[in-house]
Amino acid sequence: MHNRQDIKWREDIERCTRLYEGFAEAAPFVKAVYECVYNFFEDYPVAPQPAVDPKEAADRLRTGRSLEVNPALDTKDAVELLKRITQALAEVNPELEGTMKVLAENFEQFVLNSPDRVSKEDMWSLCQLLVNDTELEQDLATFLFSITLSSFFRQHTQSTVEVLRTDLWQEGNCPLCGEMPHYGMLRPEDGAKEMECWLCGTKWVHARIKCPFCGNEEQESLGYLTVENREICRINFCQQCRQYSKIIDARKFNASGGIILSIHNLASLSHDLLARQEGFTPGSGLEWVNSGEITDSREVVEKW
Ligand SMILES: [Zn+2]
Ligand SMILES: [Zn+2]
Repeated sequence: MHNRQDIKWREDIERCTRLYEGFAEAAPFVKAVYECVYNFFEDYPVAPQPAVDPKEAADRLRTGRSLEVNPALDTKDAVELLKRITQALAEVNPELEGTMKVLAENFEQFVLNSPDRVSKEDMWSLCQLLVNDTELEQDLATFLFSITLSSFFRQHTQSTVEVLRTDLWQEGNCPLCGEMPHYGMLRPEDGAKEMECWLCGTKWVHARIKCPFCGNEEQESLGYLTVENREICRINFCQQCRQYSKIIDARKFNASGGIILSIHNLASLSHDLLARQEGFTPGSGLEWVNSGEITDSREVVEKW
């Protein structure tokens, strides 16, 4: 069965392969993982949490307080998805098989040592442990854990996402779950900067000249970097807190059919490398760059 969501990500992987130089190589991985996630929730449907009371939620957002919705995950289900994704990755790239076997053992251990339900913090601790103790590289670890967490969060929070008054929200963090964003876009219809939560998928408009992480609004210390011939993706940076986010300029391509920014994020990881080389850290806390890769910077175009 193919529903609308299923078709959408296939379309966007193809679009990103055309738009982003170098993504063709990674696209089969991304496709395998999205397919795996899609099939997983067909087998293990998650009951969405009931939507929060819309009036209460609106009152809270008006005072600048995120709802901080942070559902605990079923440990066995979360680990099952991690396992399936690693299997899917090893099928696309057999060189990963050894690493994936070690990961599977660690996952088993995690289930044995954990309560029935775990928080996102518990999952990140497992991620860090694997990066420290196994051959798993940081970029792949971030991919594996961010897609697992976001897949569960989106299932849990979808009923609230639909009713949330994000027009009342002006802060930099996510109004629904409180997470800091990693990316956003300039909307094709009006050029507004719309941030999107990598974790729960909530979208909200944020001032163009404002740092989502420290609230800095001084134009002189805000700016963006991009790479020649790859100007679809901008690295918005702040000199005050030295953090960055990525903004996809959706005015630059035909966005019909909808844009799945998590795929555009994967297609533009070379920009994360550039940001790290320029000395900025991800305000989201998501580290997409392996520490060994951060060396001198090249081909930078600085604007504003
Ligand atoms: Zn969120
Ligand atoms: Zn800042």
